[in-house]
Amino acid sequence: MPDHMTDFSRLCIHTNTTKPWTLEQAIEGYGRAGVPGITVWRQHIEPYGAKEAARMLKASGLKVVSLCRGGFFVATGAVDREKARTDNRRVIDEAAEIGAPVVVLVCGASPDVDLPMARQQILDGIHAVEPHAKAAGVKLAIEPLHPMYADTRSAINTLEQANNLVTTLDSPWVGVCVDVYHCWWDPFLRAEIQRAGKSIFAFHVCDWRVPTRDLLNDRGMMGEGCVNIREIRGWVEMVGFRGMIEVEIFSDQYWQWEQDRLVERIKRAWLAEV
Ligand code: ZN
Repeated sequence: MPDHMTDFSRLCIHTNTTKPWTLEQAIEGYGRAGVPGITVWRQHIEPYGAKEAARMLKASGLKVVSLCRGGFFVATGAVDREKARTDNRRVIDEAAEIGAPVVVLVCGASPDVDLPMARQQILDGIHAVEPHAKAAGVKLAIEPLHPMYADTRSAINTLEQANNLVTTLDSPWVGVCVDVYHCWWDPFLRAEIQRAGKSIFAFHVCDWRVPTRDLLNDRGMMGEGCVNIREIRGWVEMVGFRGMIEVEIFSDQYWQWEQDRLVERIKRAWLAEV
């Protein structure tokens, strides 16, 4: 096989993709499989603490791509909004500690806060924590979420909205995360990827299962659904994105698998579909 057919140098897996594994098991498992990149979810750090997690990650030689996740800036009361900002500053500190250059932001939503207000709170929240990110040398990547999550997860649902926030905030520390699961349906995706350009800090892949059986944990393996992943990858690379490509699959089905087998399945899909 030619080299590019077996090139895993830009493959990164989210620890939440192999959720049954502890951080220690994920580090070992990715290492065994020759997966060079890891995006760490906070719940995988928690049992160890950031300091010990940082030591383990450093010793592993894996490249830490991002920390997931900050955000959730939306709340009915000012006290809760301030708590969210404090928590985001803590996430930024954890990212700095484990050597993650990026924190992914799931911006937040609440059925008790109308969407225009929620979007204002998100803008204010990111504005409030940006100086902390800058001081820590950690970038913030706004991830638009599919509109089916506009009730409780994020009032930022298109790349256009995320780009508008980036434009308004006007900081090199604030950019976007393009996740094909959330954005594939958007008729303006290509144009907004072009607009985002160098402010694309992260690129997430999986697939949209047809039919999707569950709104939370039924993401598909690449190639299993209807997303043209390779085309979207081409668009982000056309504007200069050269970072790791992160496999983020929340799936009750795949979490049942023996996780080494799942990692091998991901590698096959990577070669065939990404
Ligand atoms: Zn994502």
